[in-house]
Amino acid sequence: MARIVMKFGGTSVANLERIHNVARHVKREVEAGHEVAVVVSAMSGKTNELVAWVQDTPKAAGANSPFYDAREYDAVVASGEQVTSGLLAIALQSMGINARSWQGWQIPIRTDNAHGAARIMEIDGSEIIRRMGEGQVAVIAGFQGLGPDNRIATLGRGGSDTSAVAIAAAVKADRCDIYTDVDGVYTTDPRIEPKARRMKKVSFEEMLEMASLGSKVLQVRSVELAMVFKVRTFVRSSFEDPDAPGMGDLLNPPGTLICDEEEIVEQEVVTGIAYAKDEAQISLRRLADRPGVSAAIFGPLAEAHINVDMIVQNTSEDGSRTDMTFTVPSGDVQKALKVLDDHKATIGFDVAQSESGLAKVSVIGIGMRSHAGVAALAFKALAEKGINIKAITTSEIKISILIDGAYSELAVRTLHSAYGLDKS
Ligand code: ADP
Ligand code: ASP
Ligand code: MG
Repeated sequence: MARIVMKFGGTSVANLERIHNVARHVKREVEAGHEVAVVVSAMSGKTNELVAWVQDTPKAAGANSPFYDAREYDAVVASGEQVTSGLLAIALQSMGINARSWQGWQIPIRTDNAHGAARIMEIDGSEIIRRMGEGQVAVIAGFQGLGPDNRIATLGRGGSDTSAVAIAAAVKADRCDIYTDVDGVYTTDPRIEPKARRMKKVSFEEMLEMASLGSKVLQVRSVELAMVFKVRTFVRSSFEDPDAPGMGDLLNPPGTLICDEEEIVEQEVVTGIAYAKDEAQISLRRLADRPGVSAAIFGPLAEAHINVDMIVQNTSEDGSRTDMTFTVPSGDVQKALKVLDDHKATIGFDVAQSESGLAKVSVIGIGMRSHAGVAALAFKALAEKGINIKAITTSEIKISILIDGAYSELAVRTLHSAYGLDKS
């Protein structure tokens, strides 16, 4: 007997037929004698719809400002998961399985106060563990918890992955299965590059980079939690026949295992390519080249919660003036420009220029630590396709390249093939 947390994403619970299919996956594990907790997302498209309603309401109510209260945003957008948790509990009960739904506040899953992007602080798993011991399946609404202000808080987009891994850690589950619409983690997004290959295993470090550089198959925070709490996490498909051979395999279920580097026998130099669209670049021209200038720029941006990513500074010829270029999410450009303008006197720049519609393509691999020339290969491959590079950042295990957004898919495919990831 094992204890298993099963998470089902939006497309897996998109309609009643799919919810029935999910219930069959759950039934398989229950009938194998396991204790099961299930975490569900909202039906696909539902969260987007709810977010749009929230955004449109102030204007519809006659306000001049698009401002809305983050607590009420959470009250609205958390509702999608409430629906699917109840529906799955009903589906399971209809199939003769003892099941009960749980909202974040009922467990409770305690979070911090960052409404809209809250972090899980603590989970009291005792009642769920007790009920699982009695053979009851817990069907938990993902993406939500209870803030210190006693109000519903949501965990940021894609947050049900994090709910699942956190619950798995809290109930000391033997395994956390993230069921989605692809059958594992691929060398790149299989929807962009059909030649992408499924990986049997991927290390926590690489998955963390892939997730934070744009591969939305797992939310970044879920990978962090899996790494810290050593949760055995698999990414697998909900669309396969729940009763196909091997689906109930306890140690080697079909899919991709996220695990320690040591568990991976044949480590490639490059394991994956990630991409993020909707990046924008801001350049501050003719800045005074003096100590404190970076702090004067990035301090106020951080206070405004603007996520700055790549930063490039040029040295000027005579050393007195410089240009600073950095990237922010496209949606934050206007806000960033306003912050910079408000601090223009203290920063001391001539003009601020911006360009939206860029993309960041990244090459990831632990093997880069011990191999030279990995970056050069990417630059050459992109040059051969005539793709211009706007900025580059590197770390021990990744290279990120900023390009025109129109070329993102071509760049992904080009790099995927340049590093031999197409070949099995
Ligand atoms: P869910 O609704 O189940 O949480 P998501 O849409 O959040 O599903 O994540 C699954 C999607 O992630 C896939 O449909 C795929 O297009 C995308 N994806 C991006 N990069 C990868 C990758 N390297 N491997 C697998 N899927 C990826
Ligand atoms: N429903 C939420 C979202 O769309 C959470 C999730 O699916 O993980 O972001
Ligand atoms: Mg997701």
